[in-house]
Amino acid sequence: MSALDRLVTLSIPMVPKPIVRRISARYIAGETLDDAIRVVSDLNRAGAMATLDVLGEDVFERKQCTETVDDYLRVLDAIVAKKLDCNISIKATAFGLKLDLGFCHENIERLLRAAHERGIFVRIDMEDSSVTTVTFDLFRKFRERFPKIGPVMQAYLRRSLTDAHELLKLAPLNIRLCKGIYKEKPDVAFQDREVVRKSYANILEVLMRAGAYVGIATHDESCVYEGLRIADALALPREAYEFQMLLGVLPNLRKTLIDGGHRLRVYVPFGRHWYAYSRRRLNENPAIAGYVFKALLSANVQ
Ligand SMILES: Cc1cc2nc3c(=O)[nH]c(=O)nc-3n(C[C@H](O)[C@H](O)[C@H](O)COP(=O)(O)OP(=O)(O)OC[C@H]3O[C@@H](n4cnc5c(N)ncnc54)[C@H](O)[C@@H]3O)c2cc1C
Repeated sequence: MSALDRLVTLSIPMVPKPIVRRISARYIAGETLDDAIRVVSDLNRAGAMATLDVLGEDVFERKQCTETVDDYLRVLDAIVAKKLDCNISIKATAFGLKLDLGFCHENIERLLRAAHERGIFVRIDMEDSSVTTVTFDLFRKFRERFPKIGPVMQAYLRRSLTDAHELLKLAPLNIRLCKGIYKEKPDVAFQDREVVRKSYANILEVLMRAGAYVGIATHDESCVYEGLRIADALALPREAYEFQMLLGVLPNLRKTLIDGGHRLRVYVPFGRHWYAYSRRRLNENPAIAGYVFKALLSANVQ
């Protein structure tokens, strides 16, 4: 972390809410389901698929967990009603993973049943390394009854190559590969950007060669290139993989991939917990803190 990033990160608690909202507006569809539907419809019209995420994580109140299930049920109904090319992404801790495992499983099962009935795929996002194993266990527990489900793998984790080989035993596998966003200790995760890139390329090749359907989730040109190279080397049809990007990040790269005929999905977060989510992200990721600094500057000059 540079000295400037450290300074900005330390000052984040003092950033006024309207500024946080202004920064996050680019990355978050809005507070309501209508906001989210509007953004997804626009993306679909532009040739992109989407995945909707109801903001919330690390929830320790039962009521909030069941409200999250209800929010997602409304999302599923809207996807069907509006005929959107869209699936959902969920975070297990929003369903009570750190509160009560049995309760979390009940909540997720309720959602998976509803998604299954509507034929909608459910992606289980990967959170910090304290829940990696239980999150993969969740996938293993439900995958036979609800096959339209898939995990996420983080290339920065030292364990991920081994996990990839283990998960590939559960074919057919639909998996998202990302670098990983949480701050992790050196004994758990690679810290060097180049090593993370190498790990990303290596795991991607292992997964694609073995026939997994991979969501290549990155905005890093080097990782995008690896995806294109491996798909070409294996002569994979376009339906055998997809690229994935976050809402608001590098829309030009997104368009280039779509224009090249590749499947591309945009991750669209929304919901009333946008403020807590944005603050947490800003605290976690000094790179995003840099964007705060820029926005603060532009807010001051306007
Ligand atoms: C669809 C999707 C789903 C994800 N799901 C998870 C998950 O379940 N668990 C998890 O730990 N992480 C997840 N991530 C986050 C991921 O782990 C990385 O932290 C993030 O994508 C940045 O890594 P990168 O590969 O884009 O490379 P980077 O080298 O970090 O970024 C490449 C370039 O992209 C731009 N960029 C990247 N991120 C941002 C940003 N937030 N704001 C503005 N510009 C940016 C910058 O220009 C940067 O130079 C997901 C990412 C995507 C795209």
